[in-house]
This record gives sequence, C-alpha cells and structure tokens, in this order.
Amino acid sequence: PLVLGIETSCDETGVGIVRGSTLLADAIASSLDEHARFGGVVPEVASRAHLEAMVPGIERACKQANVRLDDVDAIAVTSGPGLAGALLVGVASAKALALGLGKPLYGVNHLAAHVAVDTLEHGPLPEPCLAMLVSGGHSSLLLVEDVTQKIDPLGSTIDDAAGEAFDKVARLLGLPFPGGPYIDREAKQGDNAYVTFPRGLTGPRDFERHRFDFSFSGLKTAVARWVEARERSGEPIPVADVAASFQEAVCDVLTRKAVDACKNAGVTDLLIGGGVAANSRLRVLAEERAGKVGIRVRVPRPGLCTDNGAMVAALGVELVSRGVSPSALDLPADSSMPVTSVLA
Ligand code: ATP
Ligand code: MG
Ligand code: FE
Repeated sequence: PLVLGIETSCDETGVGIVRGSTLLADAIASSLDEHARFGGVVPEVASRAHLEAMVPGIERACKQANVRLDDVDAIAVTSGPGLAGALLVGVASAKALALGLGKPLYGVNHLAAHVAVDTLEHGPLPEPCLAMLVSGGHSSLLLVEDVTQKIDPLGSTIDDAAGEAFDKVARLLGLPFPGGPYIDREAKQGDNAYVTFPRGLTGPRDFERHRFDFSFSGLKTAVARWVEARERSGEPIPVADVAASFQEAVCDVLTRKAVDACKNAGVTDLLIGGGVAANSRLRVLAEERAGKVGIRVRVPRPGLCTDNGAMVAALGVELVSRGVSPSALDLPADSSMPVTSVLA
C-alpha cells in the first residue's frame, strides 16, 4: 500500500510517503530555531509553525515521491501523545485530506510509529521485540508483541526524559540547544571516567519497583553541583570530560536496563528509537552489551530516529497491510494517548 503520514506532535512538521517498506518521501520542517532562544519548545510557537508548514510539506512530499495525492491508499497521522495544539494541526489536516480524497484515515500513536519506522531501514519487524524509545519527551522500555495492536509498557522515566537530561546538562556546560548532539561531539574528546556520576534507579532497593524505570533528574543535579563547585574554586570546567562522564552515566543505565528487559521478556531483538538513539556512545555500548548475550540491536539511521512523517506512514502501511480497520473521521488529538492504544 501507498500511505501518506503526517507528524506534528512536537516541533517537527513531518510529511512522509511510504510504499510497502520503501520510503518515497520524507519532508520535514522544524521550528526548532524559533524555540532555541527559550531553551525549550514553546507550544504556541510550534502550533503556528505547523500551520504554516503543512501545505508546503504535503506538496513537497508528493513532488519528492512523484505521486499525486489521489494515488495514496490511506492517510496516517499522529493522534498522540504530544503537544495538544500541535497535534491538532496534523489531525485536522489529515482529516481534511482523508475526507477530500475519500481515503481511510488512521490516527496513530507516536511511540508505535517510532518503532514501526525501523521497517524502512531493516525490513519486517521482529515481533516480539523490545523497544527502547529515548527522546526529548520520552524514555520508555516497551514490549512490542504486535506493533499494530499490542505494545506493553515495561517502564519509563519517573522524572526527566533522557533527551531532556542531555539538553539541560548541555545548557549547564554552555552548549547550544538542543544539547544532545553537542554533548555527543564534546564527549568524543573527553574522558568518560573523569567523574563518576550517579546511575539512577539501579540500586538493589530499586529492583522491586523500578527495575525497568529510569530517573535522570538526580544525575542532572549531580552535574550541576559538580560544575558549581568547580566554578566556586575558580578552576576552568573541563567541558569535554564532564560531557563524556555524563553521557556514560546515561548510556550505562539505558543499555543495562534494556538488555535486562530483553532477557526478562525472553526476546532476542532490541530496537532503539527516538532522538537520543542518534547518540554514538549509546549505539556502541548497546551493540557491545547486547552482543555479549546474543541479542540483536536495530537502530534506524539518525534521520529516522528523530520525529518525522515517514515513521507515521510506515506504521500506516503496517496497519493497512495487516487489515486493521481505520479510525473514525472524528478521531481526537489525544495529548496523553497511552502506548497501549496504537490506534485512535
Ligand atoms: P518526542 O519526545 O515527542 O519524540 P522530541 O522532539 O524531543 O519529541 P526527538 O526529535 O526524537 O524528540 O529527539 C530530540 C532529542 O534528542 C533532544 O533532546 C536531543 O538533544 C536528543 N538528541 C539528538 N541527537 C542526540 C545525540 N547525538 N546524543 C544525545 N541526544 C541526542
Ligand atoms: Mg523534535
Ligand atoms: Fe518522537
């Protein structure tokens, strides 16, 4: 099937077109620059930017894919979770398209789309598999039995998301927003054992209740205290070493828990998605630790890990090919859509 997917849950206006497992177009406009000076995404600014970028995005995607809107078999759109006003722009646009073209409409879960996108890179999903989604808004371990209808959340962050921690620590170190890629770059020149920062929720007492949960706010605070102490003593901050040590703490916890969750669930495939999956250290450590116990790691290329329309189209293709009935035309934008519901 040929599916057009629309993504507007945060700051990216994504329009993707996928035929089968072939990515034909991936048009992305980001309002990130407009948020940079606030140090975080401003919802109203994001919504307005989506409005302005939507029609040009659809036109660009069709041109890139060399298809006419009439050719598509279905429209898929992120229904949630995400920023309410931002989601609304995508959902309203998708409804208009579906209604105007007389095509079925699928309102999908953003997290499930982050999982489905891997089909574009590595072919059919191994199911069941374990998915670790790590981005600016999420840090979750999911047991994916069927990406179109059965995803069980095993754990998630109890405070900051992994990407959020990267962004906050980058700010402490005087690096630009969003900080993930800058920390990654700095860390390459640093010593990751320079400071041993705390590994949240990994103690024996956390095993019962938080075995598959994450916590990154204590880590962020620890970095802040360390930097402050240095500043008070008048010594320069070894930015690369602190970045590397912080990154090591995050990647250590993420990979340890992901491998533990795979073993616990008895699955042999680990899929990593979300913006933080672009992190070079995370990729290496995941391969290393999973490889040791016979677990295969699948990480889509960085451009597919961050938010985009292709991932929504990829999930749409799975839904159409597996014969799942479309959503109702009055489907909502659901800012807190649980991952247990793949379809609105
Ligand atoms: P959502 O959580 O809804 O998916 P988002 O816009 O935060 O929204 P993404 O676009 O997938 O999600 O990811 C952005 C996040 O990924 C930012 O926090 C950014 O710092 C982080 N990130 C990007 N590249 C890297 C990297 N190389 N290393 C670490 N973090 C990174
Ligand atoms: Mg983003
Ligand atoms: Fe996302």
